[in-house]
Amino acid sequence: MSTLYDDIQFLPGVGPKRADLFKTELRIFTLWDLLNFLPFRYIDRSKFFSISELMPTQNAVQVQGRFISKQTSGYGAKAYLKAIFTDGTGRMEVTWFKGIKWIEPAIKPNVDYVLFGKVNEFHGTLSMTHPEMETLQKFREHQQQNFIGVYPATEKTRNANINGKVIRNLVENIFEKIGPNAIAETLPQYILDDFKLPNLETAIRTLHMPTNLSQVSMAQFRIKFEELFWVQLVMASRKQKDAREIQGIPFVRSRDKLLTRFFKEHLPFPLTKAQIRVMSEIRKDVESGKHMNRLIQGDVGSGKTLIAVLSMLMAIDNGYQACLMAPTEILAQQHAKSLQDFLGDLPINIALLTGSTTKKRRAEIAEGLTNGSINMIVGTHALLEDTVQFQNIGLCVIDEQHRFGVAQRAKLWKKNNVMPHVLVMTATPIPRTLAMTLYGDLDVSVIDELPPGRKPIRTTMLRDTQRQKMYDLIKEQIAQGRQIYIVYPLIQESERMDFKNLEDGYKTITTVFPEPKYKTIMVHGKMKPAEKDEAMQQFASGNAQIMVATTVIEVGVNVPNATVMVIESAERFGLSQLHQLRGRVGRGADLSFCVLMAGNKISSDGESRLGAMVQTTDGFQLAEMDMKLRGPGDIEGTQQSGLPITFKLANLAQDGQIINLARNAAFRIIDNDPLLEQPENSRLRKGLLERRVDKVSWRDIS
Ligand code: ADP
Ligand code: MG
Repeated sequence: MSTLYDDIQFLPGVGPKRADLFKTELRIFTLWDLLNFLPFRYIDRSKFFSISELMPTQNAVQVQGRFISKQTSGYGAKAYLKAIFTDGTGRMEVTWFKGIKWIEPAIKPNVDYVLFGKVNEFHGTLSMTHPEMETLQKFREHQQQNFIGVYPATEKTRNANINGKVIRNLVENIFEKIGPNAIAETLPQYILDDFKLPNLETAIRTLHMPTNLSQVSMAQFRIKFEELFWVQLVMASRKQKDAREIQGIPFVRSRDKLLTRFFKEHLPFPLTKAQIRVMSEIRKDVESGKHMNRLIQGDVGSGKTLIAVLSMLMAIDNGYQACLMAPTEILAQQHAKSLQDFLGDLPINIALLTGSTTKKRRAEIAEGLTNGSINMIVGTHALLEDTVQFQNIGLCVIDEQHRFGVAQRAKLWKKNNVMPHVLVMTATPIPRTLAMTLYGDLDVSVIDELPPGRKPIRTTMLRDTQRQKMYDLIKEQIAQGRQIYIVYPLIQESERMDFKNLEDGYKTITTVFPEPKYKTIMVHGKMKPAEKDEAMQQFASGNAQIMVATTVIEVGVNVPNATVMVIESAERFGLSQLHQLRGRVGRGADLSFCVLMAGNKISSDGESRLGAMVQTTDGFQLAEMDMKLRGPGDIEGTQQSGLPITFKLANLAQDGQIINLARNAAFRIIDNDPLLEQPENSRLRKGLLERRVDKVSWRDIS
């Protein structure tokens, strides 16, 4: 008897050549791998089209009829076979460039055939190239297989004719070899019952060899549910474990402390409803004695800094230090300044530590942090260095979380005997389903409201030929004393080209807006940090009106006087990046503009992205669209996570409901049986152990 983990090569019908393709092209090594190689859609082979109703570029079309002529032309490698096919409603050309030797004699007059393939049109004539072909008689012999799966394929597997039919036959061979009940069920019986799921073996069998589509959708549901369920079970059990093992520092409320004074004397505006809600969520965490591990999602400009300030004040009021870590030097500086502005004359000692802090100052800071005279520290990665030790840190706030690796953050947590509370802030809204998957073990707060009085940014898309309109806007805004960003895309294939784009852009702009009336600076990633800072300073101080830049300005630059964001070749950017860039303007009281410059020829995806940008300024909505357009695997900042975000069948952009079901089920199970010790959960305990090993946690590792 074979086992599921036998090498695919020895399965009848495979052999060394195909085995090699399976391994290198499709990552299929064993019988089990092949069983888990699932169709992503199905075609109904019982349906025939009439040639008269065919549309060019229609995929997976099946027609039945006869050949009325055939002719081979050309010689050697250039030979091709062309035949005319009709079903009585119309005619179609059928062409072969390969295997002519075999096919030509197989085409006989007065015999009915079934052809299956993709329809093309050339000079007004419909055609099919290299269709699957068999006689109607043969087709009828196996007609019970109405639904044929379409499997993922590569060019090589396609050329080797590894198609749905071949795979289905191989899968049949496997089931014959392993016998019934060889595939162990992975989910407990009560879950199968609760959700009316087919068992694993049935599901796999159905997906390869379905007889009707409702069966398929039940089997797909089972596989999707399971994929998502395991992720959620890992998250639930991790969260439960942390809650059991990590002591939280309990903060208490008290009057006449800094937080109260801040509210009375310093808070420049009332909190938004969303800020109030998020603060109460944070309070509940830190006052409960549990360890806070919370993600704050809020769109650009939603007021996350203030949340950080209030939370840090709570830590300081309770006799602890607090730190705020930012991904770049400029951001850290801006944060330090915002904190100073917010906190005014409150007796709080704030320090700034970055890569460019002098040795002398570093020593002072190290001393101040160990003896407790510094209560609040803002910094970059420099905070992670071993020389930085705290007296008693009670809260770490991390801004723009996806720029820091998991290991880096873990290093920060380890600086204390007691784990400080953790607040992670992200300015890149991500879809809820993605958040549940990536940050499923964190508590999530959402600031879904902008402070009042913001004027929405007016976004327009212009073609290259309308460039003058953009110049007019810039001129007008500068005349009113405003400042302008012009951003060029990074095209990773060629750094030199990128730079040329940027330099050409700079030259054009300085020609249209010449010195001394205008001053334009250029900023890009290849500059030395000091040069870059110097240029940014020129802009921040208002000395320069125009900044021509690559995406280095994406994160966090705050110049409220800037009112125009021009994005060149905007179709090349992802939606979340466009949104981030647009967020650089609209920070002051003035009406702001975002101009998306698009080439004259752009893809339909590019068109959809730019259309979405013009339509809405809501970052969450854009994130949803981005995921639908690009798939979850390409959403910015998710790749580094090492967490599973692409699945065999489940799709975070489409299966939100299944995620909810899976998450609720997983968390309920862990709530009732934290260590999965109950007999009915034995399959879950086993599955979890298998899945644990390669998963990263937000803070388990160092
Ligand atoms: P982000 O969430 O992008 O980090 P910031 O914290 O930088 O946003 O806030 C953006 C701007 O909004 C800042 O100038 C800040 O002072 C202001 N702000 C924050 N909260 C409020 C509020 N409740 N009312 C009015 N303005 C606010
Ligand atoms: Mg911010």
